[in-house]
Amino acid sequence: MGAPEPSTPLLQHSNPIYFTPSEAQSSDTRMLQLFLKKDRDLPIRRGHPWIFSGAIERIDGAEQEVGVAEVFDNKKNWLARGLYNPKSQLRVRLLTWQKEAIDRSFFSRRLSQALAFRAEQLTGSTNAYRLCNGEGDFLPGLIVDRYADYCVCQFFTAGMELFKDDIVAALSALTAPKGIFERSEGRVREEEGLEASVGTLTGEPMPELISIEENGHKFLVDVRRGQKTGFFLDQRDSRSFLATLARDRTVLNCFAYTGGFSVYAFAGGAKGVVTFDSSHPALELAEKNLELNGFADRPGELIKGDAFAYLKEIEQKFDLIVLDPPALAHKRADIDAATGGYKFLNLHALKHLNPGGMLLTFSCSQHLSADLFQKVVFGAAVDTGRKVTIVRRLGHSIDHPVSLHHPEGEYLKGLALRALD
Ligand code: SAH
Repeated sequence: MGAPEPSTPLLQHSNPIYFTPSEAQSSDTRMLQLFLKKDRDLPIRRGHPWIFSGAIERIDGAEQEVGVAEVFDNKKNWLARGLYNPKSQLRVRLLTWQKEAIDRSFFSRRLSQALAFRAEQLTGSTNAYRLCNGEGDFLPGLIVDRYADYCVCQFFTAGMELFKDDIVAALSALTAPKGIFERSEGRVREEEGLEASVGTLTGEPMPELISIEENGHKFLVDVRRGQKTGFFLDQRDSRSFLATLARDRTVLNCFAYTGGFSVYAFAGGAKGVVTFDSSHPALELAEKNLELNGFADRPGELIKGDAFAYLKEIEQKFDLIVLDPPALAHKRADIDAATGGYKFLNLHALKHLNPGGMLLTFSCSQHLSADLFQKVVFGAAVDTGRKVTIVRRLGHSIDHPVSLHHPEGEYLKGLALRALD
């Protein structure tokens, strides 16, 4: 399919701007000195960006204030610089292992590097992407998503909040957006002692629905009220993969949200697609998205309900099933219950595959490892009595890099499976 020209170019900035780093921290940002306990420096030397309260021996300076911290080992050797929050158990999130000032120029450099990578990797028919992926872009606590002419930011930590103006100024200079919107909310912010903060940061207010293009497909995104920042950008590559499997297939898109996988399935030539989700607003947008791409009259249904009950009760079989549930484990203690949920879903999805059919199954629970997820899916396959192969391993799209030094950032894992008979 020929990809149409997007309404806005991928990048709206001049060439990446590189500043010369300065070592000194500007005087208006107080820098405290933090000394680690004996033997607690190794992870930091290896590049892990987090320091929990239990690793800290002593702090010199304004211990009660959020600010930039200089981190030293037990023998007073300088290690790194980061953002400190006395209210969070996760006291410091490190930004740099070099003696560079943490200021507007620093954020410009990091964001410019992040943007340059996206510009190299994404095609002109995609104008929605994650511009900054927190730890994966060495800016822990900051998410920036680009939706056509707008940026959407999430400041998850008190430290990043301190530099909000600098980050907004840097983003404005780099991307020349129509507007920058903020959706800073959720559990991490609560743990940081921060209230939710949602609204326009600069420029024009976000439209009620923004139109984006992804690989030439059109989607309406509700940035103000939608899940995450409005769209699951992390599934772009898996959506593309699905399109390559869909020709003449019947497809069930389970946990469909606004119908991303459904649009790609039709674009790939699917014979029919069932789009299933528990959210009414999500399905309304899914319907509009199918329409926008010219698939309104194709065979299929949009069904609202509980996927657990649906998968158990239906008799129908499909050639292709997508199973992309929300995180079933939010913390480590949830893992046991979550594995039960994943097993149930995968067991019932596998039962509804035609011979030779394929299942694209995902977990976005950060605390459930890829290894454990595979074991759970294996258990489900055994219980169905079907023989199943792994065709491909799936994960975040390329604009969601994960720091090798922070494997916790790899939350999304998926398996493309094929049932023999
Ligand atoms: N695959 C989607 C993203 C899925 S997000 C995409 O590519 O855009 C998870 C979705 O599961 C959300 O839309 C949420 O509304 C839905 N959901 C949560 N619990 C559900 C349940 N019990 N049954 C069906 N859908 C559910």
